[in-house]
Amino acid sequence: MVLRPILQFPDKRLKEKSQPIVEIDDELRALAQDVLDVMYDEPGIGLAAPQLGESVRLVVVDTDWTDEDAEKNPTVAVNPEIVAREGKITWTEGCLSVPDFTADVERAEKITLRYTDLESVAHEVEAEGLRAVCFQHEIDHLDGILFIDHISRLKRNLYVQKRKKALRREAEETDEHVTSAPGTKL
Ligand code: ZN
Repeated sequence: MVLRPILQFPDKRLKEKSQPIVEIDDELRALAQDVLDVMYDEPGIGLAAPQLGESVRLVVVDTDWTDEDAEKNPTVAVNPEIVAREGKITWTEGCLSVPDFTADVERAEKITLRYTDLESVAHEVEAEGLRAVCFQHEIDHLDGILFIDHISRLKRNLYVQKRKKALRREAEETDEHVTSAPGTKL
């Protein structure tokens, strides 16, 4: 299995607004499988197609898969849309496209989500807590928004500087490994 690389900040493609999906076909199912493979390999609990450089409205989420022994229970959501939001929750978020950084982000505590699955069946479901946070984070990716766009400009700038420095250092010492920050990778 060859895993596709995850785009990382500050890759400009992460800022693009993704296109709606018009046809659910084998090509799309293959892409969904690629996104799932990368998510479980990392591991993460959510991943959006644009993070693999595919600018289409598809996200995958599996908030039940808490460790490698847990049963996989993925939701593949085509053209996901949040139609209702309720309450507030603050979660310490991370992102597979934003290396070595976590921050508290405030989001809706409960959401109503509409999406189509890979068999072209339409769903309307409610999600709350971590699952609601995860869908909001992934759907943001479809609109070119990263979790660091939700934090203060000061904190964001500090991260951007740190990231630039790390990239320069990586370029200089390519064999040095950088360890990830703890937190939920979405
Ligand atoms: Zn993310």
